[in-house]
Amino acid sequence: MSIAANLEEIRKRINLSAAAANRDPKSIRLIAVTKYVGVAEINEAIKAGIADIGENRVRDGILKFPDLIGNVTKHLIGTLQTNKVKPALEHYDLIHSVDRLGLVDELLKQAAKIQRKVEVLIQLNLSGEKTKHGISPAELPGFVAKLSTSEYLIPAGLMTMGPLTDNPETVRPIFRSLREIFEDIARSLKLGPNWRYLSMGMSQDYHVAVEEGANLLRIGTAIFKAE
Ligand SMILES: *Cc1c(COP(=O)(O)O)cnc(C)c1O
Repeated sequence: MSIAANLEEIRKRINLSAAAANRDPKSIRLIAVTKYVGVAEINEAIKAGIADIGENRVRDGILKFPDLIGNVTKHLIGTLQTNKVKPALEHYDLIHSVDRLGLVDELLKQAAKIQRKVEVLIQLNLSGEKTKHGISPAELPGFVAKLSTSEYLIPAGLMTMGPLTDNPETVRPIFRSLREIFEDIARSLKLGPNWRYLSMGMSQDYHVAVEEGANLLRIGTAIFKAE
């Protein structure tokens, strides 16, 4: 199987899940998570229509970006170290992993210097696993309010990681809950159209995520596997 064939398979499945949930599949963006692969594989994915790529580590992405063909939106999906905030804001378009107040402070400080608009998502930990990054729903209004004080940072939605499990159905209540929290806070803080992303769903569970309202899917293994 090639990357193009894997992508075709994934798109078919997204379309089926979207239809089952009465959603327009065009509203769902597929981020190719490229942390396991090099430039050649990424360019193959871009040729097959990928317009969004996601990296875990700031530096890994920065090393690959200059050699990519075409113009892709760059997502930082992994935990962001405070000392990497500056290059992250310079090289990425969307940061999925705002997960602590110290990071918010540094983002505000560097964004004021760099003056480049970057969308940011707040990462919630809804699985209760202590090993997972992310804040609790109770902390969310404070994070959104603080990020909103910057004219360069755009609070654009929420991200979560489901628990590792063999049964994707285990993850459904967590995805559903992320969507509810997303809608509640949009209402209570009267957030405008910039508040628009639900980043959830990976190789094992993206079909469930689509059914529960995800519009940013982060998929690596299922795209780049070699079988
Ligand atoms: C690696 C990674 C993914 C993609 O995982 P796959 O199981 O390979 O699809 C998605 N999100 C985050 C935050 C990751 O680190």
